[in-house]
Amino acid sequence: MPDRAQAEPKPFFWIPLKGRPQKIAPRGHERFQGLSGWMELEIEVVSDYLYVGSGQLELRSVQGREQVYYAFARQNEALIIPGTSLKGAIRGVVEALSNSCVRIKARNERVPSRAHEGCEYKKGEQETLCPACRLFGTTGYRGRVHFADATPIEEVRPEIIKIADLWPPHQIQGRKFYQTKAFQKLDLKPAKNHRFLEAVPKGARFQTILFFENLLEEELGLLVRALGLDLHPEDPQRVVFAFPVKMGGAKPRCLGGVRFIPRRIRLLEGGPDLFSSLLTGGSSDEVKPLLARFLAREELLDQEAWKRFRQEARSKNEPCPREVY
Ligand SMILES: [Zn+2]
Repeated sequence: MPDRAQAEPKPFFWIPLKGRPQKIAPRGHERFQGLSGWMELEIEVVSDYLYVGSGQLELRSVQGREQVYYAFARQNEALIIPGTSLKGAIRGVVEALSNSCVRIKARNERVPSRAHEGCEYKKGEQETLCPACRLFGTTGYRGRVHFADATPIEEVRPEIIKIADLWPPHQIQGRKFYQTKAFQKLDLKPAKNHRFLEAVPKGARFQTILFFENLLEEELGLLVRALGLDLHPEDPQRVVFAFPVKMGGAKPRCLGGVRFIPRRIRLLEGGPDLFSSLLTGGSSDEVKPLLARFLAREELLDQEAWKRFRQEARSKNEPCPREVY
């Protein structure tokens, strides 16, 4: 392996684990309380490429040669970003921003803090859950946030790209997040310790729906921040893009930065009007004032983690390491 010390700057950062997650009893699903509805989101690829794997290897002619590659996720031929991938990516950010337990991690990573091991929920007992488990669920407790599979808004043309294989770092220092830097293209000649991916390029746009039920305003505040949005520092009426969210595979090669653009929010009124509100599709509220209202609620936010995230997760105009680091 090449010398790690002289490698290019690493494209990731750590959010340290500290103290204990704040756990309380989660809300039940028996009746409507708080905020329920859905948010229509546009997803725009802002890194050079996004790769969300289907788990399938396929064969295609690349520069006149049959080449095996890892295929992008599809449903009935159309490219999709599965709702589970979206949920995993957003959950990872929510966990970091709210000092929750660590569920989103690489398979070979161990949680170095006992206090941050995954919450468990046993019905009938006085169980408490961290903010992320209350929102996204855990064994025994169904989450209150779900994503539909994202579909392309217009035709998306995937490309075959080559990357060097990935070695994760051995030392775990907290929660690891990858940055959005410039992908360094490699030629398409087959090479040892390299692989081919089917990836969609920068500018590709998808759409999805985020469903939520029985949420508190501060839970929506946390969720909207985890989508990479924030209030303008000088004008709390304005909502701004704070950082791209990373998703899919080959994040260490700086793939997978996306921007979430909320296009519409529907809130279902609770109480006796619930039925009529379901039938009419709820009230369509102005997106920006609602987002600003949710973002003003910071009760569940770990300010230190948020500051660090905002600083480190922003798109960086730097090259991503091509090889092992
Ligand atoms: Zn938890």
